[in-house]
Amino acid sequence: MTEPDCIFCKILAGEVPCFKLYEDDRTLAFMDINPFNDGHCLIITKAHSTNLFDADPADLAAVLPAAQTVARAVEAALEPEGINLIQANGPAAGQTVFHYHVHIFPRQLNDMALLNWGHRPGDMARVEATYKKILAAMA
Ligand code: AMP
Ligand code: ZN
Repeated sequence: MTEPDCIFCKILAGEVPCFKLYEDDRTLAFMDINPFNDGHCLIITKAHSTNLFDADPADLAAVLPAAQTVARAVEAALEPEGINLIQANGPAAGQTVFHYHVHIFPRQLNDMALLNWGHRPGDMARVEATYKKILAAMA
């Protein structure tokens, strides 16, 4: 399944170039053209889906091993001080391309990436109430 206006579908179709790192039956990995740090790259599913909510579980299952392969290479090649896997769902989560993808996001100490949030002690009653809501939605 492809979407005509989707930039990642265009990359998959060969209509837009990419620095391809890895490919298998279900996934493709390439360099992010707006890297936060050197080595920032993306794993996408070959099938178009908007994000986590509508992706095929079999495609999702293929993404993590692909991410491991690429992350190991990033680790070996660049020796960053850390690597985050980041995956955004919806605009408030920072999603800008609406085709499922996972960022391999190399980190350096004190790089000030805004995804670092402080640890504030939680209100356990609120945590438990939220937990129950999510659990009920899984039933
Ligand atoms: P997100 O904001 O999580 O949706 O991430 C989308 C990512 O795709 C951004 O980091 C962009 O820099 C990246 N991106 C957008 N267009 C391209 C492209 N043509 N080739 C490589 N990366 C891209
Ligand atoms: Zn797409």
